[in-house]
Amino acid sequence: MPVATPATQAAAPGEVALMDWETLRRTVAGCTLCGLHKTRTQTVFGVGSEQAEWMFIGEAPGADEDRLGEPFVGRAGQLLTSMIRALGFKREQVYIANILRCRPPNNREPSPEEATHCSAYLQRQIALVRPRIIIAVGRIAAQNLLHSDQSIGKMRGQVYRYGPDRIPVVVTYHPAYLLRSPGEKRKVWVDLKFAREVFQRGNA
Ligand code: URA
Repeated sequence: MPVATPATQAAAPGEVALMDWETLRRTVAGCTLCGLHKTRTQTVFGVGSEQAEWMFIGEAPGADEDRLGEPFVGRAGQLLTSMIRALGFKREQVYIANILRCRPPNNREPSPEEATHCSAYLQRQIALVRPRIIIAVGRIAAQNLLHSDQSIGKMRGQVYRYGPDRIPVVVTYHPAYLLRSPGEKRKVWVDLKFAREVFQRGNA
């Protein structure tokens, strides 16, 4: 993975929304807005096609991602890659990011403050990619992205809208949950087929 040279100064509020890819990458690499910078090995920016039509957003880097600097590269990541392939894409054809760019110690859930600090980066990544559909992968991604406290069971099967471009958002289970409950895999396939319908409707 390319390692961005960290920016030396924190970005002023509002500046992130105007950044190009390189400046954004550098700013994220040097980010100290929350305490997670003290325990990370490196930041985990995002990966994939900058022109992707499909964007997948997960929760936060785990140990493998923190070590390698790329989202979804551990066991859950392999399952996400299979989900992407089941839709007919290569991993490189979509864009993959997380709510957080740094690993929370012991893989605890992101705190609301951490998610808030990181949200401008995600917003800018979404604005630069301009995907035609977003898949929120797991409860933390769905709740943070959509500012909701609903359970994932309630959010599945619905089309939410994100941002000024009203990008459709579809919610599904996190692959780490599927590793614990493989019986639920069928539901994810239902969600992905639903997302494909939503995507095709949007492009009709
Ligand atoms: N789980 C996530 O939500 N994101 C990753 O990058 C890896 C595991």
